[in-house]
Amino acid sequence: MQLVDETPVYGLGVGPETRCKHYRSDRDIVAFRFGCCERYYPCFRCHEAVADHEAVVWPRNRFDDPSVLCGACGTAMTAQEYLECDSRCPNCETAFNPGCENHLERYLER
Ligand SMILES: [Zn+2]
Ligand SMILES: [Zn+2]
Ligand SMILES: [Zn+2]
Repeated sequence: MQLVDETPVYGLGVGPETRCKHYRSDRDIVAFRFGCCERYYPCFRCHEAVADHEAVVWPRNRFDDPSVLCGACGTAMTAQEYLECDSRCPNCETAFNPGCENHLERYLER
């Protein structure tokens, strides 16, 4: 477990900006909260590796609750803010990996 600002992030080899064993490029600095355990993980593979239950994506009826963590500044966005952010943190403007959009259905209910 790694604290990012004050938020615990779980997974394998999680760094201070939420990079993990699986995704460690400059731009891989987002952690997603899961609906099952309400914990933040850098990626679904981290959840698979360390959680003892099936992953449940963040539910649409909670898209106004904080659920996407920027590893650069430690600010949690709502899912809605993340979807509208154009791969850039609305708070610190650090660029996110736009490739995450290719598997967003693993994190956010569509
Ligand atoms: Zn979980
Ligand atoms: Zn991972
Ligand atoms: Zn940020």
